[in-house]
Amino acid sequence: MTSLANVSVILLAGGTGSRMGTSVPKQYLPLAGKPVVLHSFELLISLPEVSEIVVVCQEQYQKYFKADEVRLPVLFAEPGAERQDSVYSGLQLVSEHTGFVCVHDGARPLLSREVAQRTIGAAQRYGAAAAAVPVKATIKSVEEDNWVDTTLDRSQLWEMQTPQVVEASLLREAFAHACEHGIEGTDDISIVEAYGAQARLVMGDYRNVKITTSADLDYAQYLLQKTQHLSPSPVVP
Ligand code: C5P
Repeated sequence: MTSLANVSVILLAGGTGSRMGTSVPKQYLPLAGKPVVLHSFELLISLPEVSEIVVVCQEQYQKYFKADEVRLPVLFAEPGAERQDSVYSGLQLVSEHTGFVCVHDGARPLLSREVAQRTIGAAQRYGAAAAAVPVKATIKSVEEDNWVDTTLDRSQLWEMQTPQVVEASLLREAFAHACEHGIEGTDDISIVEAYGAQARLVMGDYRNVKITTSADLDYAQYLLQKTQHLSPSPVVP
């Protein structure tokens, strides 16, 4: 029987956000009165399933995460060169007693309680789960010089989001395997797949966007204003 609060969150806020073209990394830009990353930080620490949070960020940004106002332990890990290195760095601080690790991109401020809990619930049932959405676009794979190779079957394609939640022992084993074999992935489930374990996708939310460009920030601002106007809850899926 697993206890309710047995999920450690790794909140990724260690990127430099070079594509945004701002001196401040995108996860610290202001959005509806607070830095982007604090939106998902506040949501995640409010979940009863969460027992601790490891924030992966540069030292000068630690002050944003006011640990004394938080009901659970807040730990800080150093970012690595790539996203995967930052997850690995965070994983080193995760309690050995934790049941599940929930990795979330700090650059996704519109995470809803429903999507977070749906993903955690699926991981508790299946071992590994991630939020994702069916792709809306037609996707083609191309050869050199953009010659179309083939059109992929859209009905089988999902766009990955975060959170991605994995049983702690499985994630540790999958990372050990990835390190040994030099496997690199742009999400956490890829590491688990490469280890030979299967993950289950759950419905995310098209509004759970990752801030990459200033247009994404404008869109997030718009969505927050709209949902705050409609409902007391910041984001309702
Ligand atoms: O660069 P990308 O948009 O894929 O980053 C996703 C998330 O991972 C962001 O929240 C970013 O801050 C974080 N990240 C990190 N360490 C890196 C690269 C990205 O924590 N080396």
